[in-house]
Amino acid sequence: MIAILGGGISGLSAAFELKKAGIEFFLLEATPAFGGKVQSSQKQGFTVEHGPNTVLINNAEIKKLIEELGLWEELIFPEEKASNNRFVLKNGKIEAFPNDFKKMLKSKLFSFSTLLSVLKEPFNSSASATEDESLATFVERRLGKQILDNFIIPFVTGIYAGDPYKMSAKYTMNMLMEAEEKYGSIVKGAFKIMKAKKLENEKNGLPKQKIFTFKNGLQQLIAALHEKVKENVHWGAICTKIEYANKKYTIDFEQNGAQKSVIASHVISALPAYALAELIHNFAFGLSSNLYKINYEPAMAVHLGFDSKNMAFSEKAFGILSRNAEKVPFLGLLFNSHFFPHTAPNGKDLITVICGGARYPEIVDKSDEEVLEEVTDCLRELLGIKGDFELTNIVRWKMGIPQYEIGYRKIEAEIDLFLDAHHNFKIASNFYKGISVSDCVKNGNLVAKSLI
Ligand SMILES: Cc1cc2nc3c(=O)[nH]c(=O)nc-3n(C[C@H](O)[C@H](O)[C@H](O)COP(=O)(O)OP(=O)(O)OC[C@H]3O[C@@H](n4cnc5c(N)ncnc54)[C@H](O)[C@@H]3O)c2cc1C
Repeated sequence: MIAILGGGISGLSAAFELKKAGIEFFLLEATPAFGGKVQSSQKQGFTVEHGPNTVLINNAEIKKLIEELGLWEELIFPEEKASNNRFVLKNGKIEAFPNDFKKMLKSKLFSFSTLLSVLKEPFNSSASATEDESLATFVERRLGKQILDNFIIPFVTGIYAGDPYKMSAKYTMNMLMEAEEKYGSIVKGAFKIMKAKKLENEKNGLPKQKIFTFKNGLQQLIAALHEKVKENVHWGAICTKIEYANKKYTIDFEQNGAQKSVIASHVISALPAYALAELIHNFAFGLSSNLYKINYEPAMAVHLGFDSKNMAFSEKAFGILSRNAEKVPFLGLLFNSHFFPHTAPNGKDLITVICGGARYPEIVDKSDEEVLEEVTDCLRELLGIKGDFELTNIVRWKMGIPQYEIGYRKIEAEIDLFLDAHHNFKIASNFYKGISVSDCVKNGNLVAKSLI
């Protein structure tokens, strides 16, 4: 019998694959909900996302999952114009984010000398001083401080909420590192790698317009998965210990106040690193102590709904990212109702503000009143919003996003060592092989297949 631990998107993707193959399994999920970080809710006519707002169709597994769940016709792609219109906050001003080199020439985000250094980058022969270089030093070494501060930092903090001076370049922007390694240049190499990726996507039949949601939000994907595997799922089952003896895993868990135990020949862990670390220290001490080292940054989503006519900012846009130097309480904000109009009633706007991260972790511990005051005061000034907010909603993730920091290489080696010694134990989780929802789907799918 196979045990899947954790009912987030990683665990549910693995479960669906086993279900299709007719293999017996059970899934233990600590909470009464399902989907982990992927949760949406309907509030006063607005559709709000608690975690991810958009998912990328960038691999064959996520495409296949959507098709097999019968959801392809239900996909909602963003309004193209708004989706391509992105901004960065620089010295308190909202500046357009250039999406091609021509626009870069006119952009206030980059000086002429920075643009020159981008053009000269293929001739930059600098090499990493350390084997495990931080993302910030890597980008600064290749492209200079301005590209780092005004482009890369806003962009990566919008994804990882982490500190680019601690984040490992290899694990967070591997494409750029690969470009340097293979072609000696980010500029030259990135184009070649992107072209190859585009060809691969075409071969896999992946659509060009790649981010999506559904009418009821991303929860629809989770609900469809849940429908397929619900007979095998035990909700409210908190795993407390795993023991290993005679090639079998005994999993202790608590459910409805009762202590229970099950024996499994195979385990797929789709748990956060700290939760898995807690369970395995008695038989895999080395891996357990390494998993505890994975830092999780807190993240918080603040949803604001209001009358469209109350906002002076008139662009139809995707969002605004902030730089480290800005004195604002957010990492980034999304104009959900601009790129996904169905997320707000007619005549209304929905904004999701993402706060916290390495830059301002304390905000997650503030009261709702304090958070709302800080965030709404800032947005009123920045976007010229007047009048009342019809919807205010806050979702906190104290252990939000796992960080692939310098030193992750050793943690990964320890995970691989453990998996080599335990062929019947698999890990599918966002702290291993990628944090995006589509990475989680891919990895959940692949580990399940490896057991079929
Ligand atoms: C605010 C935010 C915004 C994001 N935005 C995006 C985005 O726009 N696009 C994107 O692609 N990705 C985004 N991500 C990342 C993505 O959502 C996550 O990486 C992904 O959903 C993680 O899935 P998972 O199944 O690996 O882990 P989780 O979703 O964390 O699931 C783990 C599950 O394990 C359960 N569990 C924990 N301990 C135990 C235990 N002891 N016993 C049993 N069960 C247990 C938990 O309850 C949970 O259900 C975002 C994340 C956050 C927090």
